[in-house]
Amino acid sequence: MISSIKGMKDILPAETESWQFIENTIHNICQQFHFKEIRTPLLEQTSLFKRSIGEETDIVSKEMYTFFDRSNDSITLKPEATASIVRSFIQNHIGEDQPSTKLYQISAMFRQERPQAGRLRQFHQYDAEIFGSTEPSADAEIILLNSAIFKNLGLTNFKLILNSVGCENCRPNYRDAILKNLTSLKNKLTPQSRERLEKNPLRVLDSKEAEDIEATKNLPLIFEFLCDSCKTHFDELQNILKSVNLNFTINNRLVRGLDYYTKTAFEFISENLGSQDALSGGGRYDLLVSQLGGKKTPAVGFAGGIERLLMAIKKENQNLINNKTLKLFIASADTSSKNIVFQNANNLRNAGISTDFDLLNRSLKSQMREADRQNAEYLIVIGEKEISEEKVLIKNMQTRTSSLINLPINIEEINLIINK
Ligand code: AMP
Repeated sequence: MISSIKGMKDILPAETESWQFIENTIHNICQQFHFKEIRTPLLEQTSLFKRSIGEETDIVSKEMYTFFDRSNDSITLKPEATASIVRSFIQNHIGEDQPSTKLYQISAMFRQERPQAGRLRQFHQYDAEIFGSTEPSADAEIILLNSAIFKNLGLTNFKLILNSVGCENCRPNYRDAILKNLTSLKNKLTPQSRERLEKNPLRVLDSKEAEDIEATKNLPLIFEFLCDSCKTHFDELQNILKSVNLNFTINNRLVRGLDYYTKTAFEFISENLGSQDALSGGGRYDLLVSQLGGKKTPAVGFAGGIERLLMAIKKENQNLINNKTLKLFIASADTSSKNIVFQNANNLRNAGISTDFDLLNRSLKSQMREADRQNAEYLIVIGEKEISEEKVLIKNMQTRTSSLINLPINIEEINLIINK
């Protein structure tokens, strides 16, 4: 038997309704916030991710699915959405006729990580970006969009963690200070952090290893180094969030696993998720568009994982996602009625009523059993008698009551019964 690739899961029919519920909620909320959907390809040139996410990040240094295609070009399955959206924004001149642009995306992502609860190799992210605004209100809008999605999915147990990682003016000073401190602590760091120290010392703050956390607990804080512009921006963002009663905690170690952030960095976490507790994360990236060859354009965005959302929702409320039911099952009492069943089912489906019938030439008894198994709300049985009398009974499977309606089934008449 050929099985699926490690860390890549089928989303089975029993789960897809939950997925549709989450995806529909994301589409609805993004539309309420007036974001427009953008869909970018799954494959991009490898250099896009190297230049944007950063060569020293975990994603680029060890997690990307990178291949040479038949033309010997290096291509990569996208590990995150922002780089691709920025590439498309530049390539398609999206921002040129409007001062600010709000985009969102739902897509599969690929990272060759060690699979575990909440960590897959193919997973799904929802992602939103605002281009063109330096205002803290844009950061706040991105954060509020995140929390609106959670709230509309019925999630209550989530926390917002906030930080500012500075900008091109103030971060180099912080980087130097960290580098000086870390160099003296080098022997206490894990080999990976020692390696990172040389190339990107801020990454050491991102380490989840106990040794690194202990060794770096007294490092200088970024707040001591922020320039006036970053400080004001961060204060204003906090004031906006307070004004809409969105609680947050500040964690000055939050640097996020990607290199392109400037100023705001944030994460939403859930205590219901175990060790992989991040529901979503994001921040401002004012330099990325120009780094990738576009006009200097400030931007802010976030990405969240759909699998993690599902885990958190299930932990909080197993019954949140109702199964969609089949409205009507039409059974045929005899073989000669099958075509009439087919025609009526077809008309009902065309009128938007979810309808099913037997495709296996089964006995009436097993068709009725099937209607039960499928949880059909209503049952109709058509036979020669019903066809000749031009009347048929529609039975409510829950109340077990029946009403007589015309055959062929009239849409207005049946709607009065099934939409009661
Ligand atoms: P990141 O792009 O790493 O900031 O991730 C954003 C969000 O995507 C995280 O908060 C998770 O919810 C989700 N995520 C990231 N990596 C994985 C993964 N390997 N498996 C499942 N979800 C993931």
